[in-house]
Formats: sequence, C-alpha cells, structure tokens
Amino acid sequence: MFQVTIPFACAAECRYTIDIVLCEWLGIELAFIEDAKAEVISIAAEGRSIVLPGTFFLSAEANWLQYESLFSGSVYELATGLHEYFPERLPVFKELIEDIQLPLVTIDDDETKINFDLFGGIFYLLSRYEEMVVADRDSLGRFPARSSAQFKAGLMQRPLVNEYVELLWKVIKIIWPQCERNRREFQMVISHDIDHLAFHRQYSFLRGMKRAARACIDMDPSMACRFVFARQAVLGGRLAADPFFTLNELMDESESRGLASTFYFMAGGTDSIHDEDYDLLEPSVRQALKSIHDRGHYIGLHPSYSTFDNPDTIRSEMNHLRSVAENLGIQQKEWGSRQHYLRWETDTTPMHLKAAGISHDSTLGFAEQPGFRCGTCYEYPLYDFSMRMAHKLRERPLVVMDCSVMDSRYLGYGTGRRALDFIGQIKDQCRRYQGNFTLLWHNTRIVRSPEKRLYLNALDI
Ligand SMILES: [Zn+2]
Repeated sequence: MFQVTIPFACAAECRYTIDIVLCEWLGIELAFIEDAKAEVISIAAEGRSIVLPGTFFLSAEANWLQYESLFSGSVYELATGLHEYFPERLPVFKELIEDIQLPLVTIDDDETKINFDLFGGIFYLLSRYEEMVVADRDSLGRFPARSSAQFKAGLMQRPLVNEYVELLWKVIKIIWPQCERNRREFQMVISHDIDHLAFHRQYSFLRGMKRAARACIDMDPSMACRFVFARQAVLGGRLAADPFFTLNELMDESESRGLASTFYFMAGGTDSIHDEDYDLLEPSVRQALKSIHDRGHYIGLHPSYSTFDNPDTIRSEMNHLRSVAENLGIQQKEWGSRQHYLRWETDTTPMHLKAAGISHDSTLGFAEQPGFRCGTCYEYPLYDFSMRMAHKLRERPLVVMDCSVMDSRYLGYGTGRRALDFIGQIKDQCRRYQGNFTLLWHNTRIVRSPEKRLYLNALDI
C-alpha cells in the first residue's frame, strides 16, 4: 500500500489525477494524506519515496481558471536521465518545470525526484482546463485545435499523458521492482455517426443524377446501380434501398475482424440546416436498430446540433432513442453518445449528458486535427469543474475522424497513401501504450470506392 501526500494547493485536482493514473490505470493501491504544509507531492512505501513538484497546481491555486495559469505552448525536449530505461527525450510544457538544468528524474535510495509537475500536466490535458478559460471558438462554436497547448507545441499527434504515465511507471519499477501494473490490450474502438441515411431524400433529382454519373468513375459498379435505381424506392419510403444505408456493410466489415461497432443515431433535430433526415420510427430504421443489437453491436445517441448547451433537448432525444429501443426489445447496460459536429462545452455538456442518463461520451477529438485532444488514448472520468471532483461521465477520447483526414476543409490528405500513413502513425501511438484507437467513420463515407478502401485499410493497418 502506497501513501500519497498531496499539498493543499489544488488538492482536489491532484487527487483526481492521481486516482486516474495510479489507481484506475496502473492499478496501484494507495491512501491519500492531505498535508497543508507539504509543498511537493510524494508517493511513499517501504521507506522509499518519489517526490514531484506541484508547479502548475500552485500557479492554478493562485490563478484558478485565469489566463495567468495557462500553458503558452512552449515545451522543452528534455532527457529523462534514465538512460536505458527511458532513453527518449520527453516534451515538457514550460509551465511544469522550474529548473531545466536538471534531468527529468534523479534516482536516489531514499528520495527519488521527478523534476517537473507530471500530475499537473496530466490534469491540464485530461480536464481540458484551457477550454474553460480560452474564449476562442470556430464558426461552429467549437474550441479550435489551434488554441490548444498541444497544437501550439506541435504535439497534437502525441499522447503526452500516456508518455508521462510511462515515465512515472518506469520510475516506480526502479524504486519498487516487485510492483505490478494493470494489464491492458490495444483495442480498436470503431463507431459510426449516422448523420444521414438517405442521399435521395437529401438531394434533388438533378444532383442525384449528377452523382450517379460520377458514380461510373469512382464508385463500385453495384453502388453506382444503387444510386441510379434507388431514388423511387427511397422516395416511396424504402429507406434501406438508399446508397447511404450502409449499416449492414459496416457491420459485416467489423464482424469479419472480430470487432463490434457503435452506431450513434440522431433522435431529434434542433437545427434545420445541420440536423438529420430520418426518423427512428421509420420501419427501415427500426429494423436496422434491431439488427445492430441482434448482431452484437451497440447503439448510441448522436445528440443534435444545438444540444451541447441544452439539457432539455439532450434528455428528450435520449428518452426517444431509449423508448424506441425498448419497444424493439433492445436492452443495453449503458448508453453512450457523441455530439453532432463535435460541439462541446467543458462546463455544461458533460453535466447535461449525465443528467440524460448517458454514461460515456466519445466527442473529445478536434475535427480539424486528428490525434489526442485529451492527451490520451485511454478511457477516463471527465473532471467536474463545478464540484471540483471526478465527473460521473466517462470519456472515450476520439482519436481519428474520417473527414478530418480526407477533407480539404481539414487536413485534406485525400484517400491515398498519405492519408493511410497518417492514420497508421496515430494508430501506432495507441498500440504503443496498449490504448484504444477510437475511429469514427461515417456510414456515408464508404460509398465511394477510394473512401471505402481507406476505411478498410485503416482497420487493417
Ligand atoms: Zn454528426
């Protein structure tokens, strides 16, 4: 049993972070001691200890949720001092370190020192502290990647939290070699946001026919035929005939790889431009929901465009999805969600989701920058800034979204080698830490052959 002493400064934030890192992720048993006089964090057992400064926590205590406590995005790439145990240099935000002349770790028989505020850095990234402070929002009302510390530091595709945890674990193993950690396995977490189910309802006859003409160039012949012949069937009410209705195909691909997909369905609309074109009560949709469940996949909620700051609409959409599911005999132990357009406010959205009965969310990735918005590829409880404690809503950070990589409004890497290599590099980072590669691929993005090929390659790479 370890004893962890935490100082008075930001004790709640310190405890939240240590609970996640040491207890939940590493599986270490510990007891907390709060010591108002302590100036450092210490982890102790069997007469030996590791001490860490609380540089960020001290600054945040004095300037809670103020600009003065934010990271500028400047980092030092520093040697750890652990040589064969951890030979790589580690990027450390300037605000976490006081003396850059020291190696990041100095091992000592009695008291080993980690010379930067490792837990403060982890808290900053996991809690999305800066999103509570910085008012910047893009044209869709989202906190932009360019305003984040990781982006400014050029570290969007590095899971820094995992890197810091790995360093801590190496130090723990040097001091207490008999200590064991929780075992983890790399997982692919595949999901599909169902924004549109019907191309032929969404677009005019003319556009439909133009699309069909293009189909000869970049679509499977069978898909091209569907484009040409499905219009009457779809407009006549047979939604499943539409080329966007690819749910069976997505399930087939997941199943052939031993995976279960999560399908996030919209269950209402709050914005006539950005929201859904289907109704959960349509026979084709009901049949799809039943089939997803029967085949061992999962259903989640895709809360509509204006729900992120509106508790009533999130609740009514969740209630609608749940009642349709119950009528179909679908039982799920837990319900998850992902916000449409990834619209999110750190102080309100988690609270509204939890109040609607949702247990986990998978919104937190940047649309314009795939990678690690929360610094990690592990699931964890969000931070509740109003209660200053762990939130009851858990986050499964979104790592890659299809359009973020392919589309010119985002990275614009297209569907070729460059896109696949980029996805592969991020996936390798998740693999390296036995984390979760959380991939969002829309049902509408396996219609064109090159997009489908990229998806399948992303699954297999
Ligand atoms: Zn969406």
